[in-house]
Amino acid sequence: MSTVTAEQITDLNAAFEKQAPQDILRWAVETYGTGLASVTSFQPTGIVILHMLREIAPETPVLTLDTGLLFPETYALIDDLEARFDLRLTRLQPELTVERQAEQYGAALWEREPNLCCAMRKTAPLDAVLGQYPAWITGLRRDQSEGRGTTPIISWDRKHGNIKLAPLATWTESMVWTYIHAYELPYNALHDQNYPSIGCYPCTRAVAADGDKRAGRWVGHNKTECGIHVQSN
Ligand code: SF4
Repeated sequence: MSTVTAEQITDLNAAFEKQAPQDILRWAVETYGTGLASVTSFQPTGIVILHMLREIAPETPVLTLDTGLLFPETYALIDDLEARFDLRLTRLQPELTVERQAEQYGAALWEREPNLCCAMRKTAPLDAVLGQYPAWITGLRRDQSEGRGTTPIISWDRKHGNIKLAPLATWTESMVWTYIHAYELPYNALHDQNYPSIGCYPCTRAVAADGDKRAGRWVGHNKTECGIHVQSN
């Protein structure tokens, strides 16, 4: 199904809108087998997906970006879930260490050129491997931000030349937390300190309890996404 047509994608999206995420994941596993990868930064939605995959296809490859700039709480969570779910986890790392990046581009590049920093530490390492998989899973949800409000459940990813699946696109934040608590799943300790969306520590702040869930990312910059979910034309 690597050459899925636009018409098939339209039909699948219509069907998936009425289906449970587990059914969408089962379809993906049956269709793509080990050619399916799950990409996660271990946010709550990603943890729900990993838990569902554990029941459906525990051998699914899992990719995460280790920028070298994650919070200690995030590293602890990744270690915990890798062991608990026996994940086939690959930690993708940038070409340059944080120290080498500082030598070549100056200290705290994220303060001056966050797009360049994200390109080197996030999108480049992922772009280098993601095209190897005919399909990949992301934890995007429509209620996360205005820009994600029209996220399709299945789409053709032009940048990586494969299928992109967002099986929890229709879920709300409340549904995700209900699932996490129902199964007593671990989650990032920073969520209990008003960090609803957690990325690298230099670019993540706590937000007001009733604020935009991604308002704490790249504060002071006209930037809302790292670039992974931005389609190239
Ligand atoms: S989130 Fe910040 S520190 Fe992390 S890669 Fe992007 S700009 Fe750099």
